[in-house]
Amino acid sequence: MHARSGGNIEVMGLMQGKVQDDTMIVMDVFALPVEGTETRVNAQQQGYEYMVEYLRLIQQVGRVENAIGWYHSHPGYGCWLSGIDVSTQMLNQQFQEPFLAVVVSFCFVLYFVFDCF
Ligand SMILES: [Zn+2]
Repeated sequence: MHARSGGNIEVMGLMQGKVQDDTMIVMDVFALPVEGTETRVNAQQQGYEYMVEYLRLIQQVGRVENAIGWYHSHPGYGCWLSGIDVSTQMLNQQFQEPFLAVVVSFCFVLYFVFDCF
């Protein structure tokens, strides 16, 4: 899995899929070209800009699957959303709702789905 390839560096990516009734179906993932999303302040902003650009492009070419969430890794410091993560998630949900956030910490995977209604 991509999150493991980062070793001790945080990695970040997008999940593609669709929302069917109450279920979010993840069909594909792809890595974002950013590393150290929390250790480097600008990295997450970079990743976010890349996400938005990517979403815009796949909509242009008429891909049915949309991005339905993002993931990133917390190497060795557990599964939780940091302050930066929460604001990134809020930005994402302004752009798309619902949107899934996944934090990967080696053997633990935690899913967050926020309702902003
Ligand atoms: Zn994080």
